[in-house]
Parts: sequence; C-alpha cells; structure tokens
Amino acid sequence: MKKLQDIILSHGTVLGKDILKVDSFLNHQIKPNLIKEMGEEFAEHFKDKNINKILTVESSGIAPAVITGLILDCDVVFARKQKSLTTDDNTYSSTCYSYTKEEMKRLIVSKDFLHEDENVLLIDDFLANGQAAKAMVAICKQAGANVAGFGIVIEKSYQDGRKILDDMGIDVYSLARISHMDGKDIEFID
Ligand code: 5GP
Repeated sequence: MKKLQDIILSHGTVLGKDILKVDSFLNHQIKPNLIKEMGEEFAEHFKDKNINKILTVESSGIAPAVITGLILDCDVVFARKQKSLTTDDNTYSSTCYSYTKEEMKRLIVSKDFLHEDENVLLIDDFLANGQAAKAMVAICKQAGANVAGFGIVIEKSYQDGRKILDDMGIDVYSLARISHMDGKDIEFID
C-alpha cells in the first residue's frame, strides 16, 4: 500500500536497530482516513474467504480490524493483554514474548466470542518474530476455529514471523513489507 509506505517514510522513526515508531498514525494517534484504506485493502484481499469473525490484539490492531469487519460484515474480537474486572475464567489464553515491552504477555479471549464453527481472519499492527501471531493462532486452535488468513499492517520481513506463518500454511497479507531498516533508511518489498 503505497500511501502507507509513504507515511512510514515521512512520519516513522526507527528506534535502536529494530523498532519502528509509528505513534503519529497507528500506535497512539490514529489517522482515520488511512485506517479506512487499510481496512478496505484487507477486506478486498480476504473477501472470498467467507470470514465470519475477526480476531485482533488490543490496542493497535483494533482500528484496522473494525474497518475490515465493517466491510466484511462480521464481528471483531480483540484479545486482551490482561484480565479486567469483567473477565471471568471462561477464557482461551496463550502467552507470548512482547517484542516492544520485552516481557511475557498473556493474550486472553472469552470463550463467548470465539467458536469452533468460525472462519477467523487475524489482524495485527506489526509482524516481527511472530510471537503474538503464534499466540493468536493457538487461541483459535483452542476454540477449534479455523484460521482463514492473517492481515498485517506493517511486516518486518527480515525477522522470523513471516516465515513462521508461511510454514504454517497461513495466507498472510501485509500492507507494507519492510525488507531493511537502518537508522533513517527504510526499504520495502513491493
Ligand atoms: P512479534 O510478536 O511478531 O515479535 O511482534 C509483534 C508485536 O510486537 C506487535 O503486536 C506489535 O505490537 C509489536 N511490535 C513488533 N515490532 C514492532 C515495531 O517495530 N514497532 C512497533 N510499534 N511495535 C512492534
């Protein structure tokens, strides 16, 4: 998605070696028009997959997932990263190492909102080493739901996540694929 590549170049900042900061349009402030186009792209790619549920992770996956759900006309569930007072024990869960927080996180989804007859599209903001993605797939497995595909806003293709999902046979569709990141220099796979 050319517009996403352009805004990554104009507004993204590379922190250290491997973290892309995109707080001005995705991870803190949100640009609705850009998010709308992301949702349209995901919906177009996955429109023939009979998606009837979208699963994402709080918080940055929610905005693109909601637009996609609006177009595909299905409900959107977001995995919580911690129990809230309203969460009971009727949950599916899986732990993963958080790339940005550098600690183990538990992803939790209520059993009320994920079912074995569902065809699930997974959506997340970033794909790095695939830890969050693997936890989302594990949660779908626990529910007996089918993973129909994975929509990623920004994929860092030089890290392990893409290969892990490809090896699992999952249809991965990334809106921007970064092949190389080094200080100010960011390159994309077209
Ligand atoms: P993974 O589990 O694939 O290693 O990392 C994916 C998760 O870590 C995403 O859900 C995202 O929140 C976070 N993440 C990974 N890399 C980056 C990055 O370069 N920038 C930002 N902002 N988040 C990232």
